[in-house]
Amino acid sequence: MITSVLPTYNRAPMAFDSGSGAWLVTTTGDRYLDLGAGIAVNALGHANPTLVAALTEQAGKLWHTSNLYEIPNQKRLADLLVEHTFADTVFFTNSGTEAAELAIKMARKFHYDAGQPERQTIIAFDGAFHGRSTGAIAMAGGEKMTKGFGTLMPGFVHLAFGDHEALTAAIARPDVAAVIIEPIQGEGGIRPLPDACLKGLRDLCDQHGVLMILDEVQCGMGRTGRLFAHEWAGITPDIMMVAKGIGGGFPLGAVLATERAASGMVAGTHGSTYGGNPLACAVGVAVMETIADPAFLAEVNRKASLFRQGLEGLVGSHPQVFEAVRGQGLMLGLKCKAPNTDVVKAGYAEHVLTVPGADNVIRLLPPLTLTDADIAEALARLDRAAARLDT
Ligand SMILES: *Cc1c(COP(=O)(O)O)cnc(C)c1O
Repeated sequence: MITSVLPTYNRAPMAFDSGSGAWLVTTTGDRYLDLGAGIAVNALGHANPTLVAALTEQAGKLWHTSNLYEIPNQKRLADLLVEHTFADTVFFTNSGTEAAELAIKMARKFHYDAGQPERQTIIAFDGAFHGRSTGAIAMAGGEKMTKGFGTLMPGFVHLAFGDHEALTAAIARPDVAAVIIEPIQGEGGIRPLPDACLKGLRDLCDQHGVLMILDEVQCGMGRTGRLFAHEWAGITPDIMMVAKGIGGGFPLGAVLATERAASGMVAGTHGSTYGGNPLACAVGVAVMETIADPAFLAEVNRKASLFRQGLEGLVGSHPQVFEAVRGQGLMLGLKCKAPNTDVVKAGYAEHVLTVPGADNVIRLLPPLTLTDADIAEALARLDRAAARLDT
């Protein structure tokens, strides 16, 4: 049956009215511990005082001007991102999907301007998720996202995640422009790419003059305990997509790039009415200033190992429900034996929110600010949720 809101989501029958830190309160007054953080978005928790102050201060001054003029907050956020990453330049979007669109355009334009217009193909991997636009679904390629939507945008090749032989063959093709990969697949079920593979991929790209695009929309912004996940492998991409955590809940995304990779994107080649507007960037600056602090990231790592240890214990005590823990930092997955949607539902009954992912995984993507007490509470609630499913 049609509803006033287009029914593209199977929603859980609850709604939240307020939040604080890692906790949410429903419209009927029940408290839930939020281990999903709006799918890795509320990186600094709900109603974070610093973010609320940044947003309200800007809201009282100026919301939007368009990119026809200079935007001081946008410049400040771009400077911060450039200072803390491989990037020389940044374009702001409102979402990860829009970042994917620019990443595709930028990679192709680079080769076009370099006199190799035949280099258009982008290699992507099974289980990937890059967004829901026509371009992004064609790029990720999964049938669940593409079926029924007609002729797909051409120029993508899909390889099995971790198939080194297929990759070495495909990347040598003269029509390849770029490779796109998530250092840790999110929607794909918290599937990390081993550091050695990311390094090997970087070498292959260099060898064949192919650009490396990293999709760090879910795994970036401190989620893995480094500002960006690729830092663990000691490599840098040419182009990187960022979104989710960077706005802390305000819609904001970005494409970061080296000067070389971005060289084709001159005036008039791309645009966005809202992208990088004063409100979004006021929040983005506050988020970046918090997360890029090494002391903050050290805390993420400390809490992540505490949480992970507890989760390993949980797997041991509920072998019929859970199989393994995977992921890095506070981007964790519990591979389930019971159907993952049952585990998520059992969590609802214990007032703890988790997010299902592919490969029968539940995702734990809590606010990076969750406390040690929150971790203890999370483990207790997940333990009770699992007990509901023990047979
Ligand atoms: C969520 C996500 C996207 C899409 O971002 P939206 O903001 O939903 O458009 C792209 N890539 C990855 C890895 C994501 O997790």
